[in-house]
Amino acid sequence: MSDDGHDLDQDEHRVTGYLCIGCPLGCRLEVEEDDHHEIVEVRGFSCRRGRDFAISEHTDPRRMVTTTVAVEGGRWARLPVRSVDPIPKDLVMELCATLREVVVRAPVHLGDVIVADALGTGVDVVASRDLPTAERPSG
Ligand code: SF4
Repeated sequence: MSDDGHDLDQDEHRVTGYLCIGCPLGCRLEVEEDDHHEIVEVRGFSCRRGRDFAISEHTDPRRMVTTTVAVEGGRWARLPVRSVDPIPKDLVMELCATLREVVVRAPVHLGDVIVADALGTGVDVVASRDLPTAERPSG
């Protein structure tokens, strides 16, 4: 075991473990790289999706962001939003902090862009549902 918690075999290859989140089976994946950081083997997957996940998680980990933003003049106070694609994992907290400051004005429609090119990732954050204006009291 190395100082940073990775396993090193006798050829100085580094093995990193990941838990696949592609389906409920939760296969335990391993990515082995040589001392030039080249991936030499991926193990533990039961399907292609798991293999792709292991490589992506090892080289460029990304996550979808789903949260809510504040709404003015809407039937409800919060609007569910989501990133259109996964963003780099190390930007997730920063994007959530940015979205905490966002206030949108009703009405909002499903798919409306709430934040374009979030944090320069090229990924938009969009509304996950319609949100109509508040109903005016009758009379
Ligand atoms: S490797 Fe395939 S079968 Fe295993 S958890 Fe991932 S998606 Fe599911």
